[in-house]
Amino acid sequence: MLTTLRRIVLEFSQEAELQNALERMVYNVKKAMKTDCCSIYLADYHQQHFLLMASDGLAKTSVGETSIGFSEGLVGLVGQREEPLNIADAQQHQDYMHAPEVEEDDFNAFLGTPIIHQRKVLGILAIQQKESRHYTENDEAFLVTLSAQLASALANAEVKNLLSHQQQKNQGVKQLHGIAGAPGIALSEIIVCQPQADLAAVSLKKSPDSQKQLLRFEQAVEKTRIEFDVLSSQLSEAIDDDSLAIFDVYKQLLEQASLGHEVAAKISKGWRADSALKLVIEHYISQFEAIEDSYFRERASDIRDLGTRLLVNIQQQAKEELELPKEFILLAQDVSASLVAQYQHQGLLGIISLTGSNNSHAAILARSLGLPAIMGVNALVLGQLHQQQAIIDGYSGELFINPDEGLIREYQYLLSQEKALTDKVMEVAQLPCITQDGRAIEVLLNAGLSAGFEHSAKLGALGIGLYRTEIPFMNRNCFPSEQEQTQLYRKVLQVFPKHGVTMRTLDVGGDKSLPYFPINEENPFLGWRGIRITLDHPEIFLVQVRAMLRANQGLNNLEIMLPMISGVEEIDEANRLINQAFFELKAELTKDITTELMSARNEDGHLTLQQAQQKAQAVSAKLVRPKIGIMLEVPSVIFQMEALAKRVDFFSVGSNDLTQYLLAVDRNNSQVANLYDAFHPAVLNALNSIAQQSAKYLTPISLCGELASQPAGAILLLAMGFDKISMNGHNVPRIKWVIRHISFEQAQNILNKTLTLTTAKEVHSYLNEQLEVLGLGGFIRAGF
Ligand code: PEP
Ligand code: MG
Repeated sequence: MLTTLRRIVLEFSQEAELQNALERMVYNVKKAMKTDCCSIYLADYHQQHFLLMASDGLAKTSVGETSIGFSEGLVGLVGQREEPLNIADAQQHQDYMHAPEVEEDDFNAFLGTPIIHQRKVLGILAIQQKESRHYTENDEAFLVTLSAQLASALANAEVKNLLSHQQQKNQGVKQLHGIAGAPGIALSEIIVCQPQADLAAVSLKKSPDSQKQLLRFEQAVEKTRIEFDVLSSQLSEAIDDDSLAIFDVYKQLLEQASLGHEVAAKISKGWRADSALKLVIEHYISQFEAIEDSYFRERASDIRDLGTRLLVNIQQQAKEELELPKEFILLAQDVSASLVAQYQHQGLLGIISLTGSNNSHAAILARSLGLPAIMGVNALVLGQLHQQQAIIDGYSGELFINPDEGLIREYQYLLSQEKALTDKVMEVAQLPCITQDGRAIEVLLNAGLSAGFEHSAKLGALGIGLYRTEIPFMNRNCFPSEQEQTQLYRKVLQVFPKHGVTMRTLDVGGDKSLPYFPINEENPFLGWRGIRITLDHPEIFLVQVRAMLRANQGLNNLEIMLPMISGVEEIDEANRLINQAFFELKAELTKDITTELMSARNEDGHLTLQQAQQKAQAVSAKLVRPKIGIMLEVPSVIFQMEALAKRVDFFSVGSNDLTQYLLAVDRNNSQVANLYDAFHPAVLNALNSIAQQSAKYLTPISLCGELASQPAGAILLLAMGFDKISMNGHNVPRIKWVIRHISFEQAQNILNKTLTLTTAKEVHSYLNEQLEVLGLGGFIRAGF
């Protein structure tokens, strides 16, 4: 049963045309279920009806013509109830609707299941039979499972079809939704970057230049063949000859006479190299998977592996050939922070990621660069959007493909409004962040996710509240040396010589990985991350801390912050290592300066060794031990504040992680993005408790998560008693404007009322209303 299911879904997704895919599916399902009729209806929300899209059993003439209202007939009932309907005698059912044109008078049994993708009914899959009987439980289970699997394939197909339709007509706007990842608007051409070779993600596309495609494929085959040679010679000592034989099998498969030949044949029929490869490989996989013998079924994974290796090499060439226009919107399956950083200075205007959510680091980086971003856009087939015109609305998460003139004008107007707001808030950039009744809160900068933030110093921040050190570690092939790190950190500390700069020690893991230090985990956000990694690798931690301390010499504005602390032992251990680095460095410094002075003495002959040592000690005494703080982002710390306060100089809340851990919602998962909300009453109460406890234990408290950069968030944090809030440069003047336009008393009243509310929805609507009352309504679009 599983094999049949897989085959039906695979065959469905292999078809380039939606209509063909649907027809093939109804045929396959009817056959697999040994029934008399199978039909599929797709939901048209505009018309509020289900349209019969394909049928094997109903009159062919009714396909594409017959529609059933959302609240009509048995099909409508399945959609309304969002559950399967299994009826022995459909014509006797009170909801049965007679539609003579479909010619179903002979059919009695009916089993329909909804096809639901992300809570939305996309269509109905129905089977019918002449014999009046209830379909079995197994039939029902099969159809339900099939519908669930078809849902995402269908969501893809829906777009596929629409887009190819658009290409033909070259008109019509397509609107898609995602998660609003970073506010702002971008109008430009889409450039697709396909980082990970995934056959399933390849969209079937034709190319006018078969010669070029063939060459691309042949070169990829050659490269893959060489890789196999290298691999097998590398492994020849480690594994036995039998295992090595697999490489010979792979190489044979690549021969012209076999798989390679089939791909070449598809290319000559007009398919692009990657599409041709997908068609051939997936065909082989489905054939192997259909075989009962487990040995042959296993071979399917070999074929997949081979196909993926070939695809990597085909895509690599395509990437090398990728020409970037002057300005563009980047679209990728999984946009990471480092990908954004890579394209940042090459005309990047906006970002679309098929995965991720609004608290993924890519989205955070996009916000700090002022680039609009849409995350978790569902149901897109990457390749088909390449070089299409688009509008990104990073406020609402809407994406428009091929926008018409009217839409473009509308968005150009919004862009001008956005610009006016930016200009307005810049008026207060250099003024103190103080409420109308004199309460101050410091606004600091979050930096580090990208290089070149120096200009943000002009935006009025009083230092850096969070310098994320991970990114400089990311775009490399190995860990940076102590000297490299020292130079980098020195530059950062020099941007704010008169203010504190809080540098966080390495926080990799979760959605931030290092190419040269791979971490493969089932649950990366609950796994080896942040301080857990660096304490397990003191050599990495010590080098980083030493580099920070060295960079701080003479500037003395460094503060060190430890990420992902979940208990006091981690602080004790980190403190021990920091002390070790500090005293070692001090001793080294004394020694180096003494040697230097003594060699200088050889020239003028005055200084004694003792005098040189004293002088050296006086210099190294200036090496100060920085303040050490921790991030409060793992919920356990809320219940250990007293013990933690005794060990550190300051706290900083990482509300991004605190929200994910408190609500048990992966911040990176678009599937559950609607549950991730820093305005959830539980999160707000936790923050309030943290602020109160910090005051009680006399420990300065700041917040450096994304909540601080939201107008309503900043108001609540001010009222809770946070001393500092830290955010991306783009939002520094905005938040200053907001704080300067309210009184502390107003903020406290808003907080008091907010803390009585019980759902995030209530909190949002109350806070939006209050922003309007305060005359800050213009920030609502920008803030939420
Ligand atoms: C946070 O968790 O809120 C935070 C600031 O750190 P990061 O987003 O880098 O995990
Ligand atoms: Mg964090």
